[in-house]
Amino acid sequence: MEKMFECADCKSIFADSEIKRIRHSDGDSWDECPYCGCDELNEVAQCYLCGEWHDVDELHNEVCDDCIDDVADKIYEVIEYAECFCTSEQVRIAPLYLKAFTASQINDIVANAFTQLPEEAQKKACRELIDDDPYCFTEWMKGDTESWNG
Ligand SMILES: [Zn+2]
Ligand SMILES: [Zn+2]
Repeated sequence: MEKMFECADCKSIFADSEIKRIRHSDGDSWDECPYCGCDELNEVAQCYLCGEWHDVDELHNEVCDDCIDDVADKIYEVIEYAECFCTSEQVRIAPLYLKAFTASQINDIVANAFTQLPEEAQKKACRELIDDDPYCFTEWMKGDTESWNG
């Protein structure tokens, strides 16, 4: 796909092929915005979810921070995401409890305890989980989770 650019001055968005390429006979050369002539151009791409244009290095797996923040703030959504995969590190559980509960029951008990935490603590944990693997999270946001269990 053709690279897209945004003019730092007039904020126009245009394709690589539309850039005005100034080539002087003395060897000087630079690229200019086709609309206003500004020479500060940033490569941009559209967010896969909201369609807004962003600097390419501001996107995570084609998803913008605004979209990630929107979902990160909804604790129940992050819980849904977290429960799609149970690959957490091993924890030590006293053997007595393993006699009484299965692993999935223990998960349910902990899940219930999580919802009792202050909202701030829940949000902090959600944020940390997302930051651990923004790629994985954005794949989930895009509905592209088929590869996880393959
Ligand atoms: Zn411009
Ligand atoms: Zn977005």
